[in-house]
Amino acid sequence: MTQGPNDRIAGIVGTEVEYGLSWANRTPEDPERLSAELIGHVPEACHAPVLWDYENEDPRHDARGFLVEGDRENPDEDDNRSLNKPLYNGGRLYVDGAHPEYSGPECASVRDVVRYEKAGDRMVGACQAALSGLHAGGPPLLVLKNNADGKGNSWGYHENYLLPRSLPFDTLARKISSHLVTRVLFCGSGKLGSDLDPSKSGTYFLSQRAEFFEIPMGLSTMVHRSVVNTRDEPHSDRTLYRRFHVITGDSNLSEISTYLKVGTTSLVLRALEAGAFDPPVFSDWVDAFRRVGADRTLKARLTLDNGKTMTALECQEVLVSQVRRFLEQEGMDAESADLLGRWEKILEALRQGSPLVERTVDWAIKWSVLSRYSEKKGWAMTDSRLKMLDFQYHDLRPEKSIFQMLENTGQVDRLVDPMEVEEALGRPPSETRAYFRGEMLRRFLSRVHAVSWSSVVVDPGEGPLKRLALGDPWKGTQKRVGALMGKAGSVEDLLKALNPLPSGE
Ligand code: ATP
Ligand code: MG
Ligand code: MG
Repeated sequence: MTQGPNDRIAGIVGTEVEYGLSWANRTPEDPERLSAELIGHVPEACHAPVLWDYENEDPRHDARGFLVEGDRENPDEDDNRSLNKPLYNGGRLYVDGAHPEYSGPECASVRDVVRYEKAGDRMVGACQAALSGLHAGGPPLLVLKNNADGKGNSWGYHENYLLPRSLPFDTLARKISSHLVTRVLFCGSGKLGSDLDPSKSGTYFLSQRAEFFEIPMGLSTMVHRSVVNTRDEPHSDRTLYRRFHVITGDSNLSEISTYLKVGTTSLVLRALEAGAFDPPVFSDWVDAFRRVGADRTLKARLTLDNGKTMTALECQEVLVSQVRRFLEQEGMDAESADLLGRWEKILEALRQGSPLVERTVDWAIKWSVLSRYSEKKGWAMTDSRLKMLDFQYHDLRPEKSIFQMLENTGQVDRLVDPMEVEEALGRPPSETRAYFRGEMLRRFLSRVHAVSWSSVVVDPGEGPLKRLALGDPWKGTQKRVGALMGKAGSVEDLLKALNPLPSGE
């Protein structure tokens, strides 16, 4: 299957993970300072010490065309350095308000998304180990890859999908809504107890995030969260592209849950973009999301806008069959075929209650651990020791993480080889502009002044700094610029050879 602007534009994805922090040592601590202190320990082999190019950030728009004023303040150079750690792998580790966040590079395969997200977990884990090593003997510094603290606070996990601007936003929003609501079945990461309703402290939820959502569509990611986020900040040529920002997802530990979360959504977007997707739509997206997120029986019936009802599983079965029909007509690349097969298999497994679910889906893996403990120890579901185990599932410390222990003992399925993750710590993906960004940092670090998603600012030797625009995420791939970069002995040579940047696939 060919990719890129001349054919289909869906296919570039980057994910952002915010991590939860807790340190009894430092309470109450300014969370921004603690996050900055943590990412200050990023391994040298991962971090390229240049500035983040705020000057080139998009003005913030809403998808309906409104310019959103007022929430941008560019930090001075010292703050820029302490709040941003550009990475040789093309991504960025930074402080987003109260949390440390890893934003992975743009990837052109879903398997790469999984690999680069895991690399981010390792980097943040290394920061945790280094910082707590300096405070040995004190209370442990907890860094959790989850989305809620059990006290009413939630933090995000965002997916970003490159789409053509020609797809009308209202069509996109309406047609993606039921997938965002029901994919929780295989990518929720589960939690014991409601964060918002104390009467549900012993209830097990499929989704960490769903109960925090309040409106069907909107801009904010922190308050009045919406099922479809309307942020319009393409980090690319806005006449051609949109970056669809998805904020409903949970952070996953299971590689298969991440693969299915991003992969099924990519496939749905591809069918939607081609006009080959006509899904059921719920009458109340927020209510449907919350109900699916809280329904471990998988039996809740949700009302559609035509007055009929269906379960989340029935809805998913309709979606997957439409995507299959589309891909069979369109032609399938190997990854789409793999994803489709796994998607159908997991729905079947959920329907049958088969053991595959407890080896691949985070909420089910964790539920099986918690329910076994509860039974063995005689602990009620409201017992706070079970809630501690819930958190421990998400702990980044390899010796404490319950997920890691299950992975090490072969009790959960993996997708990628640990060596592939190792490689993703220091090298960018090859099929997007992240390649150019990461390789510029690796090869010409002393001449790179700043980077952002859509720029690399270089010092040309004499005269003012030069901003190389990366407005097309499909340009700057290894195929197109790898040989040129390999041959260039200096930035000067490269600037001559790259005028303009050759196009992607
Ligand atoms: P915020 O952190 O406030 O939500 P943001 O959404 O702009 O801001 P960043 O943390 O800067 O997020 O991360 C941007 C993410 O989007 C990265 O994972 C990156 O790989 C991805 N990305 C950048 N440009 C595109 C694009 N044009 N299409 C798809 N993904 C993109
Ligand atoms: Mg972000
Ligand atoms: Mg974001």
